[in-house]
Amino acid sequence: MVAEADLGERIMRALILRRVGLIQSGVGGPLIVGDDTMPDVARLQNFLDRNGYPHHLVDPATDEDAASFVAAAPTCLRNLPWVVLADGTTLRNPAETELARAIGMNAGRSGTVVYDVAIVGAGPAGLATAVYAASEGLSVAVCDSRAYGGQAGASARIENYLGFPTGISGGALTGRAFVQAQKFGADLMIPTAVLSLDCSLDDGYFAIMVDGGERIRARSVVIASGARYRRPPIAELDRFEGKGVWYWASPVEAKPTTGQDVIVVGGGNSAGQAAVYLSGLAAKVDVLIRGPELADSMSRYLIDRLAATPNIELHRRTELVALEGSDRRLERVRMRDNSCGRETERDMRHVFLFVGADPATQWLEGCGVGVDKAGFVLTGQRAGAHLETSVPGVFAVGDVRSGSVKRVGSAIGEGAQVVAALHGYLSGAQQATA
Ligand SMILES: Cc1cc2nc3c(=O)[nH]c(=O)nc-3n(C[C@H](O)[C@H](O)[C@H](O)COP(=O)(O)OP(=O)(O)OC[C@H]3O[C@@H](n4cnc5c(N)ncnc54)[C@H](O)[C@@H]3O)c2cc1C
Repeated sequence: MVAEADLGERIMRALILRRVGLIQSGVGGPLIVGDDTMPDVARLQNFLDRNGYPHHLVDPATDEDAASFVAAAPTCLRNLPWVVLADGTTLRNPAETELARAIGMNAGRSGTVVYDVAIVGAGPAGLATAVYAASEGLSVAVCDSRAYGGQAGASARIENYLGFPTGISGGALTGRAFVQAQKFGADLMIPTAVLSLDCSLDDGYFAIMVDGGERIRARSVVIASGARYRRPPIAELDRFEGKGVWYWASPVEAKPTTGQDVIVVGGGNSAGQAAVYLSGLAAKVDVLIRGPELADSMSRYLIDRLAATPNIELHRRTELVALEGSDRRLERVRMRDNSCGRETERDMRHVFLFVGADPATQWLEGCGVGVDKAGFVLTGQRAGAHLETSVPGVFAVGDVRSGSVKRVGSAIGEGAQVVAALHGYLSGAQQATA
């Protein structure tokens, strides 16, 4: 693929077009049996969508074949959803890891291989590191606990990324990077959660411990684990997560909002983008912000777009205080206008929360990598080593890094930049061993 550029391009193009064709036509890949109001159907669809994996949904209530297939199972095994694979294997409401293993998504890991670099996180920063490192001949492992794309993967339209004047969805941008990293030979292990990092160098290598008990060994490590959405302190929030309360707005969550009212909480760019995106489907989008204005937290172009969209209404100094509903879905919310203390209740099935993010660095506890008060990774304490952490050979890029600019462009830039530092470290380490 790399040595024969022309041939490589043709193969790459053919494979990408085939994949896009399968996704668009909704005919290939695993079959999800269930109905689209089930939270577990949304979970499975979301996982496959976010990983660019073709799949389709059949509902036994409307599809005769699916109905007779389900009816043929013993009564005690009829709880949906199921996932049926091409070879006939039926998985009953599988966890993401089980599904990934069954469809061969999460292949290449091996305790005996020592990689030049292990990257934790396949968001823009991790993918950029993987593409630049693998294209420059380093052996690369990338682990992500959920899907490629990170936070950017949840963005319906990124309008400020260089070279895309009409914008590009985060999924499309990072999907290309994911394929590009594979083309250059990086091993992408998704979903694989990293639980801890061992910097003791007992056997001369760093080791990352992943779920399932395996160890991935590497000569250097790049921390690109970004940030995780914050969960506001609202009573019963966990009861309604995935049942009307969402932390991202991809087409899977957006579709059921068609013609209905929606609440978006938050005053940042991600909230603004979601509100604009949802306004194209929903009857009305109410945006709730705690402060008096958006100017400090949202880009000007989004503020203007919100103001120009007739079915978006901004509620200043307002927050959600309670959620109510059944076991199946969110039905009502209570909001408080903090300027007068008045609380109002209203019927609501869709709430999207975008209230910031905390660094995903719990897995670094006890390994010696320094973090700031908020948990972001400290870098650059040594002169000339801008992206190196307090442990030589361990680097940090993107949103997880203390003081980083929280943007796709800067995450990608740091991913490209860190590869020079990796080369420097690896050649120094090699000389020391010699
Ligand atoms: C909805 C939304 C819209 C946005 N829109 C824009 C925009 O228009 N323009 C812009 O410039 N920026 C935008 N941003 C910000 C931008 O997405 C981030 O700055 C960027 O994604 C940061 O990239 P990253 O790779 O550093 O981290 P992340 O994107 O956070 O990726 C980190 C990855 O690490 C993985 N991970 C975390 N912990 C572990 C672990 N222990 N084991 C394995 N994997 C782990 C996560 O699953 C994740 O995939 C948006 C953000 C959001 C949420």
